[in-house]
Amino acid sequence: AADAKAQGIREDFPILTAGPTKQGAPLVYLDSAATSQKPRVVIDAIVDYYENTNANVHRSIHRLGEEATAALESGRAAVADYIGAASSREIIFTRGTTESFNLLASSLCRRLEAGDEIILSEMEHHANIVPWHMAAQNYGVVLKFLPLNEAGDLELSDLDRLLSPRTKLVSLTHISNLLGTINPIGQIAPMVHARGALLAVDAAQSLPHMPIDVKALGADFLAFSGHKAFAPMGIGCLYGRQELLESLPPWQGGGEMISAVGLHGFSVNELPWKFEAGTPHVEGVVGLEAALDYMQRLDPAWIDTWTASLAAYTIERLEAIPGVTVHGAPRLRAGLFPFTLDGVHAHDLAAFLDRGGIAVRAGKHCAHPLSDKLGLLSSCRVSFHAYSTRADADALIKRLTDAARRGAIV
Ligand code: PMP
Repeated sequence: AADAKAQGIREDFPILTAGPTKQGAPLVYLDSAATSQKPRVVIDAIVDYYENTNANVHRSIHRLGEEATAALESGRAAVADYIGAASSREIIFTRGTTESFNLLASSLCRRLEAGDEIILSEMEHHANIVPWHMAAQNYGVVLKFLPLNEAGDLELSDLDRLLSPRTKLVSLTHISNLLGTINPIGQIAPMVHARGALLAVDAAQSLPHMPIDVKALGADFLAFSGHKAFAPMGIGCLYGRQELLESLPPWQGGGEMISAVGLHGFSVNELPWKFEAGTPHVEGVVGLEAALDYMQRLDPAWIDTWTASLAAYTIERLEAIPGVTVHGAPRLRAGLFPFTLDGVHAHDLAAFLDRGGIAVRAGKHCAHPLSDKLGLLSSCRVSFHAYSTRADADALIKRLTDAARRGAIV
């Protein structure tokens, strides 16, 4: 029944119903963790916006300007509603998770002192590492890293050990984009708060796949990218609790983020515009609202169950192929995982799969510390979404069986 539902969902995606790929085989898209495909409703919402509404926002006293502003603010309310924020003021639009963490690190660390500590984990995406390295260079904050165990899980006892009176922030990914580990954020939050620190959550991989409620998670900040959740590229969000965002200094300067400007200074606008300098990505927000509405109708809890079960199905069969290794075995794994084939470079393997119409990602997956820790120079990653089917998994299994038989001459 779940597979039939996924089959039906495919009909909503023009790229999945467009017929054979250039390679002549049907498209087997197993790279949704990099970006999801886009449903017709999202594409149509964007086209409709440009055909009927387009104008700049907040400054225009004319009908189109007012409609464009309403579209932007309607999208903000939709995001607030989707993630259970207390108010739209807590939703800052960004280009995506990466920009959200740059905003947070730049703004928050200006309020910290040299020697204050920030805890990250070894499984973070570069988006949740490099902005903190830069803050460490600029403000003297100290970074500590939660290790992961053999299976690819974080241990809460390590967190307890690393938390100190100087810890100001713990910033963790909800789901590892390489191992698929689902971290127990709901358990971590009270530990962090009990020690007087704040918790930031990287929801880049979780928001597209499961219900997200910032209050249930106990997140003080949460970042995500629309493009992994059926929305266009270039739009994402930083959620922050209102009182925290009120207390932080603005990040980029320009139009919209000010309430007044003179030749000798400026005063800052109220939330959320305080953090949104310049013309915003209105059609991105329009697409994001349509995408979240679509995801809600599919049921995020169903996406979680379906993609995790597809991953379990595929892992079991890939592990039976001689020479194939699936890496990590976390307690809870989302619908994505890395694998390698003995004696074959991951790029060669990905190219071989691609010639069969199968798209997987190969490399270090923007998680160099984790890849290095796992001893993986490079690996292939499979990732599923709501439109992935048993047929997709079977196509991968069949072609990998073929690759294993050929060995190094793929
Ligand atoms: N964090 C995680 C866990 C991710 O998977 C990604 C995307 N690969 C990012 C952050 C960065 O997202 P973006 O490139 O959309 O800013």
